Amino acid sequence: MSALFGVAGNSTRFTETVSKASADAPQWLREIGLDAYEYQCGKGIRVVRSTAELIGHNAAKAGIALSLHAPYFINLANPDPESVKKAIGYVTASCQAARWMGAKRIVIHSGALMKRSRGEALRVAKENLAVIVRACDELGYGDLILCPETMGKVNQLGDLEEVLELCAVDERLLPCVDFGHLYARSFGVLEGKAACVQMLDRIADVLGEERSAQFHSHFSKIEFTQKGGEKRHLSFFDPGYGPEFLPLAEELARRGWEPWVICESAGTQSEDALSMKQIYREVCER
Ligand SMILES: [Zn+2]
Repeated sequence: MSALFGVAGNSTRFTETVSKASADAPQWLREIGLDAYEYQCGKGIRVVRSTAELIGHNAAKAGIALSLHAPYFINLANPDPESVKKAIGYVTASCQAARWMGAKRIVIHSGALMKRSRGEALRVAKENLAVIVRACDELGYGDLILCPETMGKVNQLGDLEEVLELCAVDERLLPCVDFGHLYARSFGVLEGKAACVQMLDRIADVLGEERSAQFHSHFSKIEFTQKGGEKRHLSFFDPGYGPEFLPLAEELARRGWEPWVICESAGTQSEDALSMKQIYREVCER
């Protein structure tokens, strides 16, 4: 076993030279040497059952691990009962689509502060997440792994500590550590060897070694502003912004951890995921 490398959605190279159909993605990802595919439902869960099942069938055949990104508009930290009801609906619908595909992991954004203190937003998000986990259990989705994500903007809930606290709600939850987001919201501070050691140590402290070793992650280079944090996702070919993958690869290899590393580059996610896998392999062979 080792870390898995994959893409979020379809890269430009895939859509322009291979196919427009996501069902063709798993076979292609296997051919180019990747391991995982994160299906995007960020703008809503529009995938129909037949398509979802075909993606799942093709992924199983190609040996591609599947995850699913739940809608971006889920806000775990919104206390409004109507909003909570909607969030339950979006997450359970994501679970249904994941079930059709045979996807194991579902990534969920942590939420927005909505002008409240971080502590208050986190308290609400933890309460709501517990309700959502219960609803998923009741519908028979208890084996799917929900992954609250670290967010890139300062006014969003979801620095590493907050996401680890969210994961404390249920022992099945895994963090989706988006290293580009953490880099952006810390204005470029969270990168490099020392930062990687510190972040992974902290995850292990809170979740324990075994659970931490399986964590979910997103990686891309991100442009940020000194005020708000995340501005936009870049490609590895864009100069000027981080983070670099090498220090993280070294720390993952040293610990023998096996996370899923999903590349969220803008358009070049298949090329960039491959370059990360290559870096990781070279580090492992040292
Ligand atoms: Zn996300």
